[in-house]
Amino acid sequence: MNASKYIYLDYAATTPMDPLVIEVMNEHFRNSYGNSSSLHSVGQKAAQILVKSRETIASLINAKRDEIIFTSSGTEADNIAILGAALKNQNRGKHIITSTIEHHAVENACKSLKKKGFSTTFLPVDKYGLIDLNELEDMITDETTLISIMFANNEIGTIEPIKEIGEIAKEHDVIFHTDAVQAFGKVPINVEAMNIDLLSASAHKLYGPKGVGMLYLRNKGVREGWGKYIEPIMFGGGHERDLRPSTVNVPGIAGFAKAVELAKEEMPKEIERQTKLRNKIIEFVLNNIDDTYLNGHRTQRLPNNVNLGIRFIEGESIVLDLDSEGVAASTGSACSSKSLEPSHVLLAIGLKPQEAHGSLRVTVGRFTTDDDVDYFLKKLPPIVERLRKMSPLKSN
Ligand SMILES: *Cc1c(COP(=O)(O)O)cnc(C)c1O
Repeated sequence: MNASKYIYLDYAATTPMDPLVIEVMNEHFRNSYGNSSSLHSVGQKAAQILVKSRETIASLINAKRDEIIFTSSGTEADNIAILGAALKNQNRGKHIITSTIEHHAVENACKSLKKKGFSTTFLPVDKYGLIDLNELEDMITDETTLISIMFANNEIGTIEPIKEIGEIAKEHDVIFHTDAVQAFGKVPINVEAMNIDLLSASAHKLYGPKGVGMLYLRNKGVREGWGKYIEPIMFGGGHERDLRPSTVNVPGIAGFAKAVELAKEEMPKEIERQTKLRNKIIEFVLNNIDDTYLNGHRTQRLPNNVNLGIRFIEGESIVLDLDSEGVAASTGSACSSKSLEPSHVLLAIGLKPQEAHGSLRVTVGRFTTDDDVDYFLKKLPPIVERLRKMSPLKSN
C-alpha cells in the first residue's frame, strides 16, 4: 500500500476490530487470566465472564445460554458440527446433504467423511446461488441424517431460504446445520423460528478477534441430553461440554460478546446504511462500466456484499491496481485468492472459468463511509479501462 489514504472494502475476508472490543479484551487480558475450570476466585471470575458472554451471544439468535459452545474458529465449529453429527448418527444412516457453494470448511469436512463410508449429495444452485427446495426434499432418503446449507455465501452474498430448509429438515427428522459465519450479526437470525439445530459463527467477521468462534447446539431437553446430535471429535479435559476441550479463551470470548452486543445495537441502522452503499456500487458499475454484471441475487443478498463480473480482464489485476490506489478489495474468497483455480462458487452459478477469473468482490462494513465508496467508484473505471486496453481477452 503506497497511497496515503487506505480504504478497506474486504469485510467478508475479515473485519478490523471495533475499538470497544479491543478495550474490553485488554481489560480481560490483564485481569481475567484465571482458568474458568479452577475453583479459586480468579478461576470463578473467568467462569462468570463465560456465563455472561454465552448469554449475550445466545440472545442474538434467540438461543439459550447453555446452547452455545465456544470454539477456536468458524472452521472448527463447522468441523465439530458436521463430523460430530455424522458420526453420532451413523447407525441411522450415512448420507449428508450440502450445497455446491459451501465454504471449504464445510465442503472438505463432508468430503473427509467419504473415507468412513459416508456419501454426500452436493445440491446444485441456480444462477443466483439459491438451492431448490423441492430438489432438497427429493434428495432426502432414509439414510440422510444431516443437512448442512450455509446461511449466506461468503463470495456472492446470496442468502439461502433458511426457514424453509429448517421446516423440511424438521419434517424429515434430519439434523439441520447452517454455516452462518457471514450472516451472524449482519441479518436477523432466529434459531427457533428457523428450526436450526446447529449453527456456526466466528468473531473476526464481526469486528471481534480472530481465532474465536462458536457452535450453537440445539438442546432439545435434558432428558435427551447433549449427546443426541453430535459426538466429540477432539478429546481432552472436558471443557465446553466435552465438545471442545481446551482451556477456554476467556478474553477472546469476552471480546466476541462485546462484538455481538454492538452488532445487536447497530444492526437495524447498519442494514439500511450498508444496503444503500451496496446498491450505490452495483448501480454505478452496471450503469457506467460496459460489459459488467452482478454475481449473486440482486436483493436476496447480504447488505454488505457486491460481487461483480468484469469481462475481458482478470480480477487479480484489478485487485492489485486498486491496492496501489489505496483500496482493498478481493477476487473471491480469501482462501482461494492465492490459488489459480477459479472459484467453485462462481462455477456453481454457471460462470465459465474465464468469467470466474474476472470477478471482483467488494464488501463494505460498519466503518465504511459514503466518501470511501465515492473514492472507490472514482478509481475503478480508469483501472478497468487501462487493463482492458492491454487485455488479450478483449475481442474488438
Ligand atoms: C470466514 C468463514 C469461515 C471460517 O471462519 P474462520 O473463523 O476464519 O475459521 C467459514 N464459513 C464462512 C462462510 C466464512 O465466511
